[in-house]
Amino acid sequence: MNTPKYTTDVLIAGAGPGGASTSIFLAKEKINHIIIDKATFPRDKICGDALSGKTVGMLQRITADWQQLFLGDEHKAIVCCGIQFIAPGNTSLDVPFQLNNAGKQTPPGFVSKRIDFDNILAGLIDRQYATLLTGTLLQDIEETDEGLLVTILQNGEQQQIFTRMIVGAEGRGSIVAKKLAGHTMDPAHFSAGIRGYYKNVSGLHAQHYIELHFLQEFQPGYLWIFPLADGVANVGVGMLSKNIAAKKINLKQMMADAIATHPNLKNRFSNAVQDGPIEGWGLPLGSKKRNLSGNRFLLTGDAASLIDPFTGEGIGNAMVSGLVTSRIIKKALDANNFSEQFLAQYDEEIYKKLWTELKLSHYLQQLSSKPRLFNFIVGKASRSKELRETISCMFENVDIRKKFMNPLFYLKILFNR
Ligand SMILES: Cc1cc2nc3c(=O)[nH]c(=O)nc-3n(C[C@H](O)[C@H](O)[C@H](O)COP(=O)(O)OP(=O)(O)OC[C@H]3O[C@@H](n4cnc5c(N)ncnc54)[C@H](O)[C@@H]3O)c2cc1C
Repeated sequence: MNTPKYTTDVLIAGAGPGGASTSIFLAKEKINHIIIDKATFPRDKICGDALSGKTVGMLQRITADWQQLFLGDEHKAIVCCGIQFIAPGNTSLDVPFQLNNAGKQTPPGFVSKRIDFDNILAGLIDRQYATLLTGTLLQDIEETDEGLLVTILQNGEQQQIFTRMIVGAEGRGSIVAKKLAGHTMDPAHFSAGIRGYYKNVSGLHAQHYIELHFLQEFQPGYLWIFPLADGVANVGVGMLSKNIAAKKINLKQMMADAIATHPNLKNRFSNAVQDGPIEGWGLPLGSKKRNLSGNRFLLTGDAASLIDPFTGEGIGNAMVSGLVTSRIIKKALDANNFSEQFLAQYDEEIYKKLWTELKLSHYLQQLSSKPRLFNFIVGKASRSKELRETISCMFENVDIRKKFMNPLFYLKILFNR
């Protein structure tokens, strides 16, 4: 064995939202570590580019200057104030985001291209405690008695890092998740998504609401239109991989057809110009529990399959898991214990925080594939202020989301105009 080029207590593989947050929170604990990414920043990531209230909450924990950093340039980010649902039967429902009680000035969410968002977040990695190695690909991991021997590729040369523990934050297709946790892709809990940028889409909401079009042909899934700065929109579709395979669907063709022919969309896209290629990526959904830790490793973000199965949002959960990861690493270092048994507290804490929400979102994902019920709820809500407010709160408050799992909720709205 060659002498490893680097030796560390903690290695984070991936500097996207999951890995960067882990690093930033570890630095707040004054813990030295190495973080690697195969890309050099700024780099793109296929995404809807929508940053929810949960992401805003995590950015507030990271730095008091977050608004200036992430929203300061009007060409790079746009604040959005709500969601517009369009049910399969065409009824549309505007749901404003609840304003934060703590400060009405706090933007409830925003849309920013990932090439910008991820670059700003990675720029907050604290070099006093973190050694950031970009252009560095994780290739392999070997378990030894004393730790992990990690093979990396840097400038075309293979090198090794010796670490006492590793955080898998490489997103979909994580080597740490495959090799150490034994994860495989499950098409019933995995979506495929594509997105393109378009200029001149007409009819965008005046308060920059994000639009979710639950078209019949994309069930369970939806077509989205998210407004970006400078008159550009991020347009994409996401759909469960199980259904794509069963129906032999070509997502790009389906999106092109919907834009060209759907009565709600064709006029809005008549002067639109596609800006760059349509590209796709996978979404590992959090609709099934998995092992998130083991001997000397923890998984965060997409490597841990934590994407919301209804909304497709994964950045907020990646950042939340980064925070929890940093806390568990501190405990492991203090106890000098990196065993599977000790690190299992990570799984407990993650699922204590996120499972209720993920389970409810899985339920809503299944509900959205029942067009008649979905049309009925959206239709009722468009006429009922109380129901609209319930749905609005649902995005912030898990207890309110629970209402959707109770059959009495549907009976109540059936008899309540
Ligand atoms: C089409 C689509 C639309 C989406 N829309 C939204 C949305 O609007 N809002 C939202 O919140 N979420 C959305 N998501 C989900 C979101 O993109 C992910 O949940 C989020 O990026 C997860 O962050 P992460 O840090 O775990 O992984 P990633 O963002 O994928 O980051 C992983 C990092 O690891 C690096 N890496 C990968 N392999 C290696 C390796 N072998 N060695 C070293 N480095 C490596 C990569 O270069 C990358 O920088 C969408 C996803 C898709 C596919």
